[in-house]
Amino acid sequence: MSWRADILTLFPEAFPGPLGLSLAGRALAEGRWALGATDIRGFALDRHRSVDDTPAGGGPGMVMRADVLARAIDAVSPEGDPRPRLLMSPRGLPLTQERVREFAAGPGVLVVCGRFEGVDQRLIEARALEEVSIGDYVLSGGEIAAMALLDACVRLIPGVMGNAESGTEESFASGLLEYPQYTRPQLFEDRPIPDILTSGDHGKVAAWRRAEAERLTKDRRPDLYEIYRRGKA
Ligand code: SAH
Repeated sequence: MSWRADILTLFPEAFPGPLGLSLAGRALAEGRWALGATDIRGFALDRHRSVDDTPAGGGPGMVMRADVLARAIDAVSPEGDPRPRLLMSPRGLPLTQERVREFAAGPGVLVVCGRFEGVDQRLIEARALEEVSIGDYVLSGGEIAAMALLDACVRLIPGVMGNAESGTEESFASGLLEYPQYTRPQLFEDRPIPDILTSGDHGKVAAWRRAEAERLTKDRRPDLYEIYRRGKA
């Protein structure tokens, strides 16, 4: 059984979108992972196929209905489905590479994409949805957030990424941001590639990269650097 993502959305035509390209797209075509995008509107209960209604207590916008969403979730992920059920939401815990690794190591994910002002709180509780944010800013819908999450997961599935090592060296893997990368030409607008990288001395290259990764992390992400420093001590 391959890793499977099921997306609940009002815009199923948005998928696979960019996930159909490059490594993720090839792996999808090869069956290394599977993707289902289900239209929430198909589970509406009335003639008008309504999926949202005005917020209780007043205020702007519309809220996605608990009853319609529950029917959609139960159809796609019946009881006993071992996959985590996620709701893309700016109120969630920000997604981390560690959580991505956990999702990728499991059987897959169910992802609910919000629209409008969000979803009825009772649905979140009744279906035990884990709210996941992709950052401290507000998107107009959960689809792009779901794609970001899926892209991060899928590239960790065995056999998806060309070079298995690039996953262990990159940003966050060691608690540090990645060192700067260079490639030919040797000289670009009077800027040479740092000598050490072309010296052929692997020990020196590794030490330089580690020092650069530490410098960048300390500069840009003192929060990450502090955790890294404490872990080393
Ligand atoms: N009124 C809500 C925002 C709704 S935005 C609030 O203030 O919290 C509409 C939908 O876009 C959300 O339901 C969610 O699915 C998605 N979304 C918006 N920003 C997001 C983010 N940073 N991370 C993940 N999903 C997000």
